[in-house]
Amino acid sequence: MENKKEMRTWLDDMNLDHPLVIAGPCSAETEEQVLRIAHELKDTDVNYYRAGIWKPRTRPGNFEGVGALGLKWLQKVKEETGMKTCTEVANAAHVKLALEYDVDLLWIGARSTVSPFIMQEIADALQGTDKIVLVKNPVNPDLSLWLGGIERLYSAGIKNLGAIHRGFSTYEKSKYRNIPEWQLAIEFQNRFPDLPLINDPSHITGNRDMILEVSQTALDLNFDGLMIETHFDPENAWSDAAQQVTPSSLIQIMKDLRIRKESDPEAEYNKDLNNLRAQIDVVDNQIIDLLGKRMKVADGIGLLKKEKNVAVLQNKRWNEILGKMVLEGDERGLSEEFILKMFKAIHQESINHQEKIINK
Ligand code: PEP
Ligand code: MN
Repeated sequence: MENKKEMRTWLDDMNLDHPLVIAGPCSAETEEQVLRIAHELKDTDVNYYRAGIWKPRTRPGNFEGVGALGLKWLQKVKEETGMKTCTEVANAAHVKLALEYDVDLLWIGARSTVSPFIMQEIADALQGTDKIVLVKNPVNPDLSLWLGGIERLYSAGIKNLGAIHRGFSTYEKSKYRNIPEWQLAIEFQNRFPDLPLINDPSHITGNRDMILEVSQTALDLNFDGLMIETHFDPENAWSDAAQQVTPSSLIQIMKDLRIRKESDPEAEYNKDLNNLRAQIDVVDNQIIDLLGKRMKVADGIGLLKKEKNVAVLQNKRWNEILGKMVLEGDERGLSEEFILKMFKAIHQESINHQEKIINK
């Protein structure tokens, strides 16, 4: 990840001495609300003021946004506070209006990124714009859809691009509203190392008490900025009430965040780091080696089962192994979530090996 960016981007041109901060309410509710929050954020490190005016709601009956009327309020924000503004666009008509009203940054929401038709429609409408356009990850953990969305915009000649990681929906019980699946965001960074990547802890957590913790993880993973929903009266917000923070909590969060450098030229540090990395490489090789050995044993089991015509999957034994490994893992400081994920993957690979042998 060193020297991540080789190309200068719109974000480098801002010459910030801190990560980019986008803040403002989930939804624009009234003109007074929009302006009041903007004034409270005006003299802080916030770089862009957000407010959703077209709100994609999963179920009908919830507040669906004030619509185009909100564009006038955002214009007023610019006039009165000098802040740059941003909002979500979800179709060609939104794009046309947002450009007409000179919104500075547009983002594409998670429910739009899932649809290649919508992404293409938005890309066509944005053709050649020099506005900043950020693409949120799709609601489902599908890296290709996210990459594809970016590629469609790039092909439409949009150069000031970036992405927002807002987590992924899941059936599994979780402390998050949308599980972060950090490895997907890291993979995204690897694919597009020059693209600014912003984290959205509000939609990941769904809970204002967890915003600081998730923001810190994002900064530790080299994210370039944060988008944090902010409202003067979060409890009574018309949408996403549980996750919004007040302007004063936002300021506190920004103070509490430890901003880490991407690297340090100091020789001693680099020596220590290289040494630790070499140790990691050794252990990683051992892990691969052990997994290979484990699969050889699984092949042996497959042969035995084949001889006796016994089913590959033995649920009882598998549940016993899992229970034991969760306990063993706990003793070594490994989380239950990790152990379950890892052993499910190992088990699946064993089954694949045995299937191959049995059906040979
Ligand atoms: C939002 O930012 O208010 C929003 C609706 O986000 P997402 O598309 O990530 O759900
Ligand atoms: Mn929201």
